[in-house]
Amino acid sequence: MRLAVVGGVAAGTKAASRARRVDPELDIVLYQEEPDTSISECGLPYRLSGTVGSRDSLIARTPEEFGEKGIEARVLHRVERVDHERRVLTGRNLKTGEPFEEGYDRLLISTGARAKMPPFEGSELAGVFPLRFLTDSDAILEHIREHSPGRAAVVGGGYIGLEVAENLVSLGLEVTLVESAGHVAAAYGSEVAGKIQDHLAEKGVSVHTGQRVDGFSDGGHGDGQVRSISFEGREAPAELVIVGAGIEPVVELAEEAGAEIGVTGAIRVNERMETSLPGVWAAGDNVESSHLVGGAPTWAPLGDTANQMGRVAGTNAALADGDTPLEFPGVLGTGIFKVFDLGVAKTGLLESDAAEAGFSPVSATVEAGSSAGYYPGGQEVFLKLVADKDSGRVLGAETCGAQADKMVDICATALWGRLTVADLINLDLAYAPPFGPALSPVIQAATIISGKL
Ligand code: FAD
Repeated sequence: MRLAVVGGVAAGTKAASRARRVDPELDIVLYQEEPDTSISECGLPYRLSGTVGSRDSLIARTPEEFGEKGIEARVLHRVERVDHERRVLTGRNLKTGEPFEEGYDRLLISTGARAKMPPFEGSELAGVFPLRFLTDSDAILEHIREHSPGRAAVVGGGYIGLEVAENLVSLGLEVTLVESAGHVAAAYGSEVAGKIQDHLAEKGVSVHTGQRVDGFSDGGHGDGQVRSISFEGREAPAELVIVGAGIEPVVELAEEAGAEIGVTGAIRVNERMETSLPGVWAAGDNVESSHLVGGAPTWAPLGDTANQMGRVAGTNAALADGDTPLEFPGVLGTGIFKVFDLGVAKTGLLESDAAEAGFSPVSATVEAGSSAGYYPGGQEVFLKLVADKDSGRVLGAETCGAQADKMVDICATALWGRLTVADLINLDLAYAPPFGPALSPVIQAATIISGKL
């Protein structure tokens, strides 16, 4: 029995490893278009500044290491077509240019997502890059070594753009960040976004929101090297541009093979990570799942989620007929990032999303300290908690400042357990003066909402 896995980063490699554990006899082949497998893409922004020093540290497992585990990992192999009726893959060895055609019994599609590159004028100039793959970071670092840029522009104020901005400032570059939406971190509410923007200004990043990028120019030098970015009639110097204008799921292969695509544009799978094609599973940034609070199909392209989905898909793809499959229940959309000294995180629904999902949201905002008021060294903790007016059920939270990780993880656990604000008020959380106020900001926010209810 042969399992073919297409895509070898988070979901694909986790799936292949699980499949190997479930069935030691299975023939497993992993096709990966890029030259490396198991890349920690989340570490790429930190590679730019040198915070993460070695390239190899961002590769969790090499093709040779997969080989030792009995998984044949073929890098620089792009699968171009799936003929699921014949159960045959065709593609190209990108190193030799040779085409290949191989059969499979079961197929797992983990083709992930790609960076969007809007058709900006001058996108083809040297010095303009996306940041998705390890090879993108290689190219950016080579450009920095060769051209020693003093000024950079970041297109897009999502979490990747913000992480990149921080790391370019750490390198000593002057950074201009341009965002077309009304504020950075569009996945967050305006209070959190306002705090991020204030923090960026303190750190010297020139932020322009509500501004559409027109393009990039070589400043008339004719040498094909980027020198500036222009947006809404303005121009800022930039000898390096990183475009973080969003990502999209890579679904073409699955779609052409006949797998159903969901309303979010990603591949539709059931809880067992099965696509609509029998014998074909999918996992990672290329699939949609359901939101555990709102219930609607949602697309949550995140590394931890890709691993969890990969575990379920890989296990199920290796099971014998009649074995009990694993299930992936859905997501809360929990995420976190850091921009300079500010942690930013969210889980569940924002107040506006909750209203759209049919709830009657009520919220409370708490600004507390990360230690007891009298204990030195405390920093600001911001938390906004959202609950449903009718049931008291906690629907979501967003947080920034110190302890964002702790706040979001408490709230995510509450959402997972479908707790109400009444449950949260009596939650037995840890307390001592160096770690926070006597009552956690989560309990404070739940108490305020309970009063409103
Ligand atoms: P991908 O990582 O997209 O991998 C899919 C692979 O499949 C790619 O290498 C692609 O080349 C290959 N492929 C596609 N089509 C084919 C084909 N036809 N044939 C062969 N190979 C193919 N997530 C977090 O949770 N936290 C973070 O802090 C975080 N930070 C991030 C920072 C950056 C800069 C980036 C880019 C991403 C970050 N992420 C983060 C997201 C996380 O990296 C992704 O969610 C995760 O990598 C998804 O894994 P995946 O296996 O589904 O897909």
